Amino acid sequence: MSVNVLFAGSPSAWEAYRDPLMAACDRAGVAVQLAPNHPPEETDYIVYGTGCEIEDFSPFVRTKAVLRLWAGVEGIVKNPTLTQPLARMVGGGLDEGMVEWVTGHVLRHHLGMDAHILGQDGVWRNDICPPLARDRKVTILGIGALGGACARALASIGFQVTGWSRSQKDIAGVRCLSEAEGLDQALEGAEILVLLVPLTAETENLLGARTLGLLAPGAFVINPGRGALIDDAALLAALESGQVAHATLDVFRTEPLPPEDPYWAHPKVTITPHIASETRVDAAAEVVAENIRRGEAGEPFLHLVDRTLGY
Ligand code: NDP
Repeated sequence: MSVNVLFAGSPSAWEAYRDPLMAACDRAGVAVQLAPNHPPEETDYIVYGTGCEIEDFSPFVRTKAVLRLWAGVEGIVKNPTLTQPLARMVGGGLDEGMVEWVTGHVLRHHLGMDAHILGQDGVWRNDICPPLARDRKVTILGIGALGGACARALASIGFQVTGWSRSQKDIAGVRCLSEAEGLDQALEGAEILVLLVPLTAETENLLGARTLGLLAPGAFVINPGRGALIDDAALLAALESGQVAHATLDVFRTEPLPPEDPYWAHPKVTITPHIASETRVDAAAEVVAENIRRGEAGEPFLHLVDRTLGY
């Protein structure tokens, strides 16, 4: 008997995923019926993509897992009707994309690239010499799948990388700190800060007036995590005072960021429209197919979300 896989997402997402998912399931050796319209009571797996409109998961009585195509789960994890196992995307090109985006923006601020890119005005400014990476303190809050990959990449360039997480980690070349008491140590004197914790009840407003005050004066803040990790009023005040020299923000409390938001016109803020890293179809299809194979083989699913922790 074949396995019914419901693709729950926008028509364009279905168009993009249909063939790669079928091919990946074939390679994984699972015979699936992949469709955008299986009845709930006949659905074995839900692939949860962009534009998924399911709000009530209770009719999906035989569904063995919900397989999300994205990393963040704050919008779905609290849904009380979702009692089926929920797996999020790990891999799928997300880690590589995030490493490239974070490294690019860290290097922009580290090297002071703006001075030359924005200052091409006939003046020969050859007196700007940035410190070497080995003399630059970079802190990453959240060193899981994405933050951990970024920490390794930045450490390999030579940066003094500190990472912070809930549970203690051990990453070569990275000073790893954990739990509440490690947070202040991680922030103390950080010159470039990257936020890659998930948004949960515990991490909302993690970066506020007090925590911003621990950074080195004139620090750079880079947020590809979630908008609500930052107390926006506190960040604007820190930009005003110079405590933060520049903020590069990819994510916001309200997305798309409304045109009247003060961040848009702020001279010390760079906005990118939630593009830090995207799931890549072919790579993500492999991850989903592997989880379906595991479900059918009675093996534990990969990348399960812990609902009590919220991520
Ligand atoms: P992971 O779950 O793999 O990593 C999260 C990290 O945050 C872990 O190190 C975790 O600790 C730590 N963490 C969570 N809660 C706390 C806490 N209360 N205190 C201290 N540390 C905590 O997630 P990913 O790396 O895959 O993704 C991170 C986030 O990146 C996503 O949730 C999403 O919001 C964002 N994202 C943004 C994208 C974009 O384009 N802008 C694209 C993809 C993701 P521990 O290791 O101990 O569990």
